[in-house]
Amino acid sequence: MAEAAAPRILISNDDGINAPGIKTLEAVARQISDDVWVVAPESNQSGAGHSLTLQRPLRIRRVSERHIAVDGTPTDCIMLALQHLVPRDRPVDLVLSGVNRGVNIADDVTYSGTVAAAMEATLCRVRAIAFSQCFDHGHPVKWATAEHWALPVIRTLQEITWPPGVLMNVNFPDRIAGSVEGIRVTRQGTRKIGDVIVERIDPRGEPYFWVGDMRSDAPPPADTDLHAIENGFVSVTPIHLDMTHHASLQALRERLK
Ligand code: MN
Repeated sequence: MAEAAAPRILISNDDGINAPGIKTLEAVARQISDDVWVVAPESNQSGAGHSLTLQRPLRIRRVSERHIAVDGTPTDCIMLALQHLVPRDRPVDLVLSGVNRGVNIADDVTYSGTVAAAMEATLCRVRAIAFSQCFDHGHPVKWATAEHWALPVIRTLQEITWPPGVLMNVNFPDRIAGSVEGIRVTRQGTRKIGDVIVERIDPRGEPYFWVGDMRSDAPPPADTDLHAIENGFVSVTPIHLDMTHHASLQALRERLK
């Protein structure tokens, strides 16, 4: 039997096409396939969530045949890539997003452009995995940890089937690769009790505000992404795009009959 063709892989992110994390992810993808395409935002889109650019045209810049920058959001990138920029001779088999500079766990998922790129791919019925590397401010980001651990995670996820409408959210702990405890399958935790908002005065005497880090107080439950990352594990969380809370459906239907 002929060997199956190498998968066609599309890579994007929200930190921008020149970010170190996307180079890390491309290096990982090249260990799986030689059919790798990169379509990523021209500039940093962290916090863009699943936003679309509708009020202006989108421009592209072809860095090389398989590296294309888009002056839009991660969602714009995936949309253009799947419909126009990647040749249509064969379908994209897998979308990889990241590796993001900083974790995307718990409530971060709702703001993250990294996760949103994977969401957009999932809506287009392409399997997608989002990757993020935890780091401490003031220390270099341990990209080698993501590079070492992403491959076994991708290989395992390629072997299983997961339902349509589900993406995988993978986070790497702030440890050197050899000190990582292993891989944990987790649920999305919660920690949002208000971001730290800094108020300062600009050089012209006007006040301004800047959204800072998210506060994290109570110790998180053991089965969550927060707990896994705090304790040195790679966290893998299946995320469902159907935001319906199915358990509430019946009660609500009874009440509103
Ligand atoms: Mn980012």
